[in-house]
Amino acid sequence: MHYSVIKKLDIADGPGVRVTLFVSGCTNHCEGCFQPQTWDFQYGIPFTSETLDELLTALSLPYVAGLTILGGEPMEPANQPEILSILHRVRETYPSKTIWLFSGFTFEALRTPGAYPRTIDTDAILACLDVLVDGPFILAEKDLMLRFRGSRNQRLLDMPASLRKGIPVPWSDGTADR
Ligand code: SF4
Repeated sequence: MHYSVIKKLDIADGPGVRVTLFVSGCTNHCEGCFQPQTWDFQYGIPFTSETLDELLTALSLPYVAGLTILGGEPMEPANQPEILSILHRVRETYPSKTIWLFSGFTFEALRTPGAYPRTIDTDAILACLDVLVDGPFILAEKDLMLRFRGSRNQRLLDMPASLRKGIPVPWSDGTADR
């Protein structure tokens, strides 16, 4: 898996100060995507064991609330094995920090047997998440006032509750969109 950047003090992609990892590769090709260069699976640099160490060190700071993974598309089937191994290490090392993941695929697509993004790793990835921000960016639904997402169709989903109930359950910390 390749990635383009790791941000170590991000306040835009989830609650609190977060470490964010932007992975490469995306087949969604949403109209109006703000970073089409990341569609290329070879964009950026390879994610190595040294990169994982860098990520874990950045997460160790006490004021860092957690990790957010974006793309590109973290849930591309080709990216899922590496994403799962990253999530297992982060969960194991920092059980109290939160993990958010942004995907252009919907929760339903990720859970449907035979659907393109579903792999043998998908359920285990979803089980590591606190919040899945799901759905493609839709230009006609673009809204700059939304919190943590770009278009109105995209959802903030509470993953433990969604997996428990088998349906998408909205996440909220009580703060409304702007
Ligand atoms: S899923 Fe994200 S990276 Fe992929 S095309 Fe859509 S907005 Fe761009």
